[in-house]
Amino acid sequence: MPADTGVSVADTQLTSPAISSVGVVGAGQMGSGIAHVCALSGLPVILLDVKADALEKALGVIGRNMDRQVGRNLITPIEKAEALGRIATATDYAAFGDTDLVIEAATEKEDVKRAIYKVLTPHLKPSCMIASNTSSISITRLGASTDRAEKFIGMHFMNPVPVMKLVELIRGIATDEPTFQATQALAARLNKITAVSEDFPAFIVNRILVPMINEAVYTLYEGVGSVSAIDSAMRLGANHPMGPLELADFIGLDTCLSIMQVLHDGLSDSKYRPCPLLVKYVEAGWLGRKTNRGFYDYTQTPPRPTR
Ligand code: NAD
Repeated sequence: MPADTGVSVADTQLTSPAISSVGVVGAGQMGSGIAHVCALSGLPVILLDVKADALEKALGVIGRNMDRQVGRNLITPIEKAEALGRIATATDYAAFGDTDLVIEAATEKEDVKRAIYKVLTPHLKPSCMIASNTSSISITRLGASTDRAEKFIGMHFMNPVPVMKLVELIRGIATDEPTFQATQALAARLNKITAVSEDFPAFIVNRILVPMINEAVYTLYEGVGSVSAIDSAMRLGANHPMGPLELADFIGLDTCLSIMQVLHDGLSDSKYRPCPLLVKYVEAGWLGRKTNRGFYDYTQTPPRPTR
């Protein structure tokens, strides 16, 4: 349900700064999805990553995901070609000199994000807003590490971005109203529905979802059930479209662990302690689908449980 912000559409049009170009930092699963939907909405997008091969991979993924939309008659081949033509890639922040909004979707680590803002902000025009797609980290703290806390906001897209309808909007303590309204208007342009969350660890969706995933990993760790039994039980018994371990692999086990660490540190409650088995998978580099192995081995068809 759209959040009631007490702001009418007319007010939004009068006061929010227009967004006519977007920069995206991080070309992983989320950054590529965000670039995809922004480009389809008609916005020019610059997609940046530290790894040039991540950019190449992202363009391939975006093209294939748009092909799927063409196959389902959701977009035309011309719309696909035009949208792809709106996406430029870069490895140098100088490319962001003219953008109205930068959406940061880099790895879920606070030091990585802070380091990005430090090199990014000197290249931005003063009016440029920054939205972080963080799943869990304090927007107030991230905003305070930049030169523009009032133009900094949380814009939390869901995975996969082209499919999922929700965007959580999270104001930091200093976020100003025009920034909130501009990002809310952008979400509407992208055909998304917004829910407003206060700035507390992991916001709304992940505060509820990721502890459930962590509990599923404990259920595996304690031998209550196998990977298949746990996922089937939750699919068939709770009517979830995906089992929790399958979902963890889809999100990325490193991201799930980072979110549990933020909840544990931020709320100081032992109920949020990350399961040691989740830590072990991440230490092994078994991060889920993106590395082809997590709770399932994706080199096998169908994917085979790894425990
Ligand atoms: P990912 O691992 O797929 O991609 C992260 C990308 O960031 C990589 O391409 C990496 O090269 C890049 N990166 C790392 N350091 C960088 C730097 N210094 N400068 C530029 N790029 C850098 O991760 P993801 O799943 O796309 O997650 C990205 C963000 O989105 C995280 O904050 C995560 O919490 C959030 N998020 C993830 C999901 C999900 O389901 N995976 C959902 C919502 C939000």
